[in-house]
Amino acid sequence: MSPPPSRHARPVALPAFNGRLERPSVPTSAIVIGGGLAGLAAAVVLAERGVRVTVLERETFLGGRAGAWTDRLKDGTTFDMERGFHGFFRQYYNLRQLLRRVDPELGFLKPTTDYPILTPTGNESFAGLTHAPLFNVAKLTWRTETLGIRDLMKVNVPAAMAMLRFDRPQTYAEFDQGTAGAYLDSLNFPALARQRLLHVFAHSCFNPQADMSAAELLQMMHFYFTANYDGLVFDVADRPFSRGIFQPLAELLGRLGATVRKGTSARALLRQSDVGDGQWVVETDGEALTTDLVVLATEVPGIKTIVGASRGLDDADWRQRIHSLRVTNAFAVWRLWLDRPVAAGRAAFAGTAGVGPLDNISVYESLEDESRAWAARTGGSVVELHAYALPAGADETAVKKQLLAGLHTLYPETAAAGIIEDRFLLRQDCPAFAPGSYLLRPEVRTPFRGLSLAGDFVQLPFPTALMERAASAGMLAASTLLDGLGVRPEPLWSVAVRGPFARSS
Ligand SMILES: Cc1cc2nc3c(=O)[nH]c(=O)nc-3n(C[C@H](O)[C@H](O)[C@H](O)COP(=O)(O)OP(=O)(O)OC[C@H]3O[C@@H](n4cnc5c(N)ncnc54)[C@H](O)[C@@H]3O)c2cc1C
Repeated sequence: MSPPPSRHARPVALPAFNGRLERPSVPTSAIVIGGGLAGLAAAVVLAERGVRVTVLERETFLGGRAGAWTDRLKDGTTFDMERGFHGFFRQYYNLRQLLRRVDPELGFLKPTTDYPILTPTGNESFAGLTHAPLFNVAKLTWRTETLGIRDLMKVNVPAAMAMLRFDRPQTYAEFDQGTAGAYLDSLNFPALARQRLLHVFAHSCFNPQADMSAAELLQMMHFYFTANYDGLVFDVADRPFSRGIFQPLAELLGRLGATVRKGTSARALLRQSDVGDGQWVVETDGEALTTDLVVLATEVPGIKTIVGASRGLDDADWRQRIHSLRVTNAFAVWRLWLDRPVAAGRAAFAGTAGVGPLDNISVYESLEDESRAWAARTGGSVVELHAYALPAGADETAVKKQLLAGLHTLYPETAAAGIIEDRFLLRQDCPAFAPGSYLLRPEVRTPFRGLSLAGDFVQLPFPTALMERAASAGMLAASTLLDGLGVRPEPLWSVAVRGPFARSS
């Protein structure tokens, strides 16, 4: 087995996997539908084991929700616009194992020194919290001005203990029907402490608290905080993801004999029984591609459309699971090229709360080389604002106005800045984790031989979230298909699967 990605990483037990071969004993082909992190992780694992892989990606760029494409400013400068800032946490063990294949030292990732939470009434910092999680909880509680001794005495301790008692079957059985908002209310934190310490967690998976499973929130708290011995402060990419991740992964796939077809949409699958044993047909706009294995690694709307149009996927329970998936509220990403710098010392990335829909502010010249060069040349600043879980019908003009007001409140020096250029994205393609959705959530394994699912919406047997969930699901999807050929699985890693005070089972 390869060495652990961190001394805190635990190997995930994959008891159902028996494959021992290094490669399939007969030539085998696979089509991976979707070139986001999940699809690329699956493609790399399959191609490394000698499977002839074709990746079909609808867009003209790879990376999906972490993707980047080339754009040009009015002054002629080309740059890579992204779907938005991403933080690479240190306990993203499987994602990091994927990225190490193209950058063994992970040199494109640079540590942030702090992860501040900014609010109009005061700030919180997650710096200096790299020790054991329980110590972190105590330290954070002790140093925050928002929780006095009297407040602490009012906290609902049994409810708070659920954060330290994460245990997949028990936590989901107890909390999945409730909302994240109701759970947070039950903690009885003072309003300011709740806003500064808990809001960011609740919002950072894009779901509104009133429509998010409390169990999913507890899973996130476990994964990011109470079971995370690698620290809450994360790494950031020092260049656009296209150059740091997706171009190198595409080149790696090329070296492994895989084909990446951008701008190609899969429309439907045709199952083996209709076309001969052990084979699938993937229909695109103008072709019917035959293959032995398929990984369906699109986002939620993509998978629903493809499964809806497919023939032969006749398993009512599974179809019901796919049908039950939905996207959560829209989010906005607004990148601004300002005619003057933000004040010295502004954090590269700051979470925010209490300023309308604004959820975070990134200062791109402190992150990526392209923006650094632009800022150095022009004396300006490249700032990105995010807003998650926007209410239905959110309108671009209104959201922009609110985001700008939030920026001016927290970074007053920007109030007088002129906006030289901007790019605004309003999208709705992140998965919903609604109350009661756990039991219906599809897994990587499907009822159909040769077909597996991957993506950040898939249910996995260990705690995980977002990019790490996508990469882990992709690797597990590949392993599931390889196991059917007697080939060894890809090792997977996790934080502790249960909380430190989980009840004995
Ligand atoms: C603004 C924003 C900020 C984020 N910040 C963070 C962060 O800080 N940390 C973090 O961990 N995560 C973050 N995330 C989440 C992260 O981006 C996702 O969890 C992850 O990228 C999902 O990867 P995926 O492969 O599951 O899905 P996707 O990236 O959505 O990939 C699916 C791919 O399938 C393609 N596709 C769809 N239909 C078809 C079809 N019919 N045929 C062919 N291809 C198709 C799509 O074009 C897409 O490329 C953020 C997301 C957003 C939007």
